[in-house]
Amino acid sequence: MKIAVSACLLGQNCKYNGGNNFSSALAAYLKGHEVVPVCPECLVFPTPRPRIERRGDRVINEFGEDVTEALTEGVRRSVFALKELGVDLVILQSRSPSCGVNQIYDGTFSGVKIPGKGVFAEALIKSGFSVKDVEDL
Ligand code: SF4
Repeated sequence: MKIAVSACLLGQNCKYNGGNNFSSALAAYLKGHEVVPVCPECLVFPTPRPRIERRGDRVINEFGEDVTEALTEGVRRSVFALKELGVDLVILQSRSPSCGVNQIYDGTFSGVKIPGKGVFAEALIKSGFSVKDVEDL
């Protein structure tokens, strides 16, 4: 199976703070599969970068700047690339404003979580991809 995975889960230092979310359990799960790393944010933003959160249909950084257009471009390019590669499944990092599948932060930068999806997860589902939150594996 060809599986696309949030690059930070694979140990790539592409998180907003320059770190990663490496998961050894996920690494074990992925053994024997073809793995494609993907990070829509690092296609269009530097790392490290300001934190971002979804606020309704917009994406705002911690300084109050609206970065929706830039992130939309990163999402568009990432979805296009995964379509070209023909992946069977996409496994995404939890609670990210881009990759979250079940929950996201509420846009107030105060740590409050709400049900919802990141913009990348939403675009993937709309495009017909099979998507899973890493915590649901
Ligand atoms: S956009 Fe997704 S892959 Fe990139 S750092 Fe955030 S959670 Fe990880």
